[in-house]
Amino acid sequence: MNLQSIGQFPVVRPRRLRQSAALRRLVCETQLAAGQLVLPLFVRSGRKLRTPVSAMPGVFQLSPDELLREATRAQEAGVPAVLLFGIPDKKDNRASGAYAKNGIVQQAVRLLKKELPGLLVITDVCLCEYMAHGHCGIVEHGKAGTKILNDPTLELLARSAVSHAEAGADIVAPSDMMDGRVRAIRSALDQKGFTDTPILSYAAKFASAFYGPFREAAESAPKYGDRRSYQMDAANGNEALREVALDIQEGADMVMVKPALAYLDIIRRVKTEFGLPTAAYAVSGEHAMIKAAAANGWIDERAVTLESLLAMRRAGADILITYAAVEVAGWLKTP
Ligand SMILES: [Zn+2]
Repeated sequence: MNLQSIGQFPVVRPRRLRQSAALRRLVCETQLAAGQLVLPLFVRSGRKLRTPVSAMPGVFQLSPDELLREATRAQEAGVPAVLLFGIPDKKDNRASGAYAKNGIVQQAVRLLKKELPGLLVITDVCLCEYMAHGHCGIVEHGKAGTKILNDPTLELLARSAVSHAEAGADIVAPSDMMDGRVRAIRSALDQKGFTDTPILSYAAKFASAFYGPFREAAESAPKYGDRRSYQMDAANGNEALREVALDIQEGADMVMVKPALAYLDIIRRVKTEFGLPTAAYAVSGEHAMIKAAAANGWIDERAVTLESLLAMRRAGADILITYAAVEVAGWLKTP
C-alpha cells in the first residue's frame, strides 16, 4: 500500500464512512450468507435416538429418522449442505463399516437423497470411526512400535469413497491425511463412472487439540498413540501449502483448512496461492469454547459466532463448516 495514495488527516477521515448503518453496509467488504454454510451431522443406527454430545451443546448422535429431521431443519433454514460422519455398531481392524454397502453412512446418504434431493450431501471419508484402534489408517505393530501404514490404507479409503458415491453422495471429503489419498479416490471414482463426483479434500488438517469434543461425538479417539504422524504440525505454514498443492494436483476440486479460527493465516495463504474454493472447518473445540463462555454469560453467543465466521470469510474461506450452521442461517435472516 502506497502511503501517499492514502492521504492524511484532516483531509482523510475514515470515520466518515462509519456514520450510519446504511453507510457501513454500503462499504462492507465481506458478506456472510446462509448459502456458504455446511452443517456436520453424526449418524448411528437406531430409531428416535438423539444422544447429546456433552462437550458440544446442540450437537447429537442421531439415528437416521432424527438425522432426516435435523437435515430438513437445516435445509429449511437455508443451509445448502450437510457433512456426514458415521458411528458404526461394530469396529474392526479393517474398518469394514466404512465401505459396507449398507453401512450407516451409506444408509443415511440414500435416505437423505431420497427425501431431500435438493440438499447437498457431503460425506467424510475416513477410517478412524470404523477402526477398533481409532486411527485413520491400517496399523502395523512392529519392533519399533506402531506404525500407520500409508499405501495399504489408500485402497480402503478409495473403497469408502466409491461406496458413498454409489449411495448417492454429492461430494466426498477425505479427512485421513494419508499421502496420495486424493489420487487414489479420484481414480477409483472415475473407474466406477463417478467422474462428476467432486472431492473436497481436508488438505491442510492439523494435529489439533481443538478436536477434543469431536472424538466423543464420533467415538473416534485413538486407543493408543496420537495422530501426529499423519496430521500436520501446528507450527507449519509452508508445509500446509505443499499439502494443498499436492491435493490439487491429485484432483481435489475444493480444499479445506482445519481447524479454522487459529489457522486464519493458512486460509489466507491457501486462497491467495491457489484460488480454489476453500473451506474452513470451525471445529468442535471452537464451538465448545463459544458455547461454554456464552452459557456463563461471558460473551454474546450470536455476536461472537458471527464475528468468527466473518473472520474466516475475510481470511479467504468460501465455505464455512460449522456446528452452528442452522442458528447462523436464522440469525442472518434477522439482522
Ligand atoms: Zn480419521
